[in-house]
Amino acid sequence: MKRREFLLKSALMGAAATLPVHKLFAAGQESPFTTLRRNVGTFVGRGGTIGWLVNENAVVVIDSQFTESAQACISGLEEMTDLAFDLLINTHHHGDHTEGNPAFKGKVKRILAHQNVPDLQKASAESRGQEALDAQVYADTTYEKTWKEDVGDETVHVTHYGPAHTGGDSVIYFEKANVAHMGDLMFNRAHPFIDRGSGASISNWITTLNSTAKDLPSDAMYIFGHGNSDYGITGSNVDLELMRDFFTALLDYTQKGIAAGKSKEEIMKIETLDGFEEFKAPGWRLPLSANIEVAYAELTEDNG
Ligand SMILES: [Zn+2]
Repeated sequence: MKRREFLLKSALMGAAATLPVHKLFAAGQESPFTTLRRNVGTFVGRGGTIGWLVNENAVVVIDSQFTESAQACISGLEEMTDLAFDLLINTHHHGDHTEGNPAFKGKVKRILAHQNVPDLQKASAESRGQEALDAQVYADTTYEKTWKEDVGDETVHVTHYGPAHTGGDSVIYFEKANVAHMGDLMFNRAHPFIDRGSGASISNWITTLNSTAKDLPSDAMYIFGHGNSDYGITGSNVDLELMRDFFTALLDYTQKGIAAGKSKEEIMKIETLDGFEEFKAPGWRLPLSANIEVAYAELTEDNG
């Protein structure tokens, strides 16, 4: 067996056994790489979960975290394969999913994202100053509603269901592996970040989660951008439905407060929603009050 094949096969069977422990990850720590199904897996470093596909003919990476962890991810992937990387997909524009893009420059043939992502990324960088603006590497390939391509013996589908976490979210689905990357459309059992300033919509986020669960097979496996440390960053459609129910409860609770004549500040004075206590995740910094504030804005400022 050739070295490359050996490394690829070994890596696919259990990444921890063959991957070098990069200096970013101290000896004794678990490997940041996990294989899920077929030749699709996750990389956990700093920021939103990276997804990857490494097969005999193609390499696809989903999201890039930050420069340092992106480099660690690239090093690990280069141990699995000698192939050039075909595609980096950004699930959305947030920095913890795109700031590692420069590390992929020259290593990946194309960067794909929803058509709204470059502008959102640019606006966000602009608000942080010239240095941030100069550091951006943007998607060079964009799509409007759906995008599909064969990558080696796998087919990748990319779908935009409208505004949800931001105005430019994608669901990436590897058809044969039957694994989908949700980006930040999923905060697994944790109060989510809802970026209203970048076009987020709670009501359409509910629709997005419903549509995804309906469009994909019931036994699809899902990768989540972020997750409660007790529950992790992968799961099933049951987790999507729970997050959908959380948003429904969030809008319902906020609407009832408004109808009862309460002030926004009064409505914001709770730490958990009934039935969703575990969303106050250990070590998680985003509070429910921030979610209620966005729900209040969406319910009072949107008229159509
Ligand atoms: Zn995000």
